[in-house]
Amino acid sequence: MTDCLFCKIIAGEIPSEKVYEDDDILAFKDIAPKGPVHILFIPKKHYATLNDIPEADLPLISKIHGIVQKIAKETGVDQTGYRTLVNTNKNSGQIVFHVHWHLIGGKKLGPMA
Ligand code: 5GP
Ligand code: ZN
Repeated sequence: MTDCLFCKIIAGEIPSEKVYEDDDILAFKDIAPKGPVHILFIPKKHYATLNDIPEADLPLISKIHGIVQKIAKETGVDQTGYRTLVNTNKNSGQIVFHVHWHLIGGKKLGPMA
């Protein structure tokens, strides 16, 4: 999608600190980290929100969570703990409309809002 920030990151038009990449998924550091570890995981295919992933593509979510497991281990937060979340639409505070999973850890996190 031409006017999407994360599609531009996938295309390399906007720089990012990549931590993982394969044919379907990219993971990169959040530009405004909420903890010592804050990584975003995105499908390379554009879906605006979690609502927009069709049933046929749901296995992609399993694949993303598999990569979350791997990166949590590699960044050393798998045992200390971390939070994985997906914001969807206005009430969640979603600001980038290319679906993404946050992985936040490396410190004690506050309660969820
Ligand atoms: P949302 O609120 O949509 O779930 O979160 C979007 C996230 O994208 C925010 O945590 C924000 O810091 C991050 N972000 C916004 N613009 C950029 C950018 O240009 N590069 C990177 N690496 N992260 C970004
Ligand atoms: Zn996009």
